Amino acid sequence: MVPTKEQLQAIESCDPQYDNQFYYGVKSTKIFCKPSCKSRMPRIENIEIVEDVRELIKRGYRPCKRCRPTDEKLPDVEWIEQVNNYIDTHYQEKLTLFSIAEDMHSSPYHLHRKFKEIKGNTIHAFLKERRMQEAITLLQTTQLDIATIGQKVGIENSSQFVRDFKKFCGQTPLQYRKEVKDENY
Ligand SMILES: [Zn+2]
Repeated sequence: MVPTKEQLQAIESCDPQYDNQFYYGVKSTKIFCKPSCKSRMPRIENIEIVEDVRELIKRGYRPCKRCRPTDEKLPDVEWIEQVNNYIDTHYQEKLTLFSIAEDMHSSPYHLHRKFKEIKGNTIHAFLKERRMQEAITLLQTTQLDIATIGQKVGIENSSQFVRDFKKFCGQTPLQYRKEVKDENY
C-alpha cells in the first residue's frame, strides 16, 4: 500500500504510537521497519505499507536490525547476503561504507566487521570488484567512451576510474578494449 500522509508523518517523527498498527518496507533495500525506527527517512516512492509483515517476508524482505520489527534477530549471514544483493543492484550509485551502513540500518564499524568475517573480503574490495566486472563487460560489448563507462559503474572521476581499472586488470581501459578488439579480428 502507498503510505498515507499520517503514516509518513509517523515514520518521519519515529512515532512509537503507531508501532503494531503498520510496518513499512523500503523497496530499494528490501528492509522493513516499525514506524518508530530511528533509521534515516527513506525516499517516499520507496516506502510501502503493510499491516502484516508476513506479506513482506514472502516477497524477500528482511527485518531491520535496528528496530527488530518481528522481535527476532536477523541472522548475520542472511543480513550480509542482503548487503551483497544491495551492492549488486546499486553499485552504479555513489556508495560508501557509510552510505551502505546507513541504508542497511547498521553502523559502518559493525557492517565492515561482519562483512569481512562472513565474506572473507572487505566491502570496499567487493564493491570495487563488482564495478570492475561491469566495466569489463561494457568495454567488451559497447563503444561507450571511458568517462561514460566510469560513470556507469559508479566512479564519476574518470582518472580515478582509469587508475582503479589499471590496478584491477593490469591495463588501462583503452588498452584492454584494444586488446579485445585485436583478438576478435
Ligand atoms: Zn528499522
